[in-house]
Amino acid sequence: MKKLIITSFSLFLFSMVSCQTPNNTKETKSSNTKKPMETSYQKTEEEWKKELTPEQYYVLREKGTERPGTGKFNHHSEKGVYVCAGCGTELFTSDQKFDSHCGWPSFDNNIAGGERVKQIPDFSHGMIRTEIVCAKCGGHLGHIFDDGPTATGQRYCVNSISIGFKPAGKDTIEK
Ligand code: FE
Repeated sequence: MKKLIITSFSLFLFSMVSCQTPNNTKETKSSNTKKPMETSYQKTEEEWKKELTPEQYYVLREKGTERPGTGKFNHHSEKGVYVCAGCGTELFTSDQKFDSHCGWPSFDNNIAGGERVKQIPDFSHGMIRTEIVCAKCGGHLGHIFDDGPTATGQRYCVNSISIGFKPAGKDTIEK
C-alpha cells in the first residue's frame, strides 16, 4: 500500500512538471508571435483589412518589414508630426528624427517620452530585439536599438509605411 501511495505521488509530481513545460513554451512564444498586441482599441482583422492597403496590413498587422531605402519618409526632413498610419495617434516629431543611414526613418525618442510607443521583446528570426508598436492600436512600427547618436542613445527604427506625416500648421495627413 505504501509503495502504491509513493508511486501515485511520483506520477502526480511528474504530471505537474509535464504541465509546466508547455505553459513555459507558450509564454516564450507569446512575445515572439506574429499576432498584433491586444489593446483597448477594438477593431477586427477584417476591419483592418478593409481600411489598410495590403502593404500597410502586412507591416502594421502582420509585423512585416518594408525593404530598406524604399520608404517614403526615409529621407524626409519637413517640419511636422509623424502619426500612426493605423489609428492616427501622434507618435514622433520631426525634431526627434535623425538620419541613421540604416534605410528606415529613425527617431531618438517619441512624443510623451514613451507613453505612446510600447516595447515588446522579440526573439523572431534568431535574433534578440525589441519590437515597437503603437500603444493605442497595437500596430507594428519597427524595432528600437540602443545605438542612437544623440543624448537619448536610442534609435526608433520605423517602417515608413507604419506612419503618416502631418506638416506643421496643417491638419492633413500624408501617407
Ligand atoms: Fe496606432
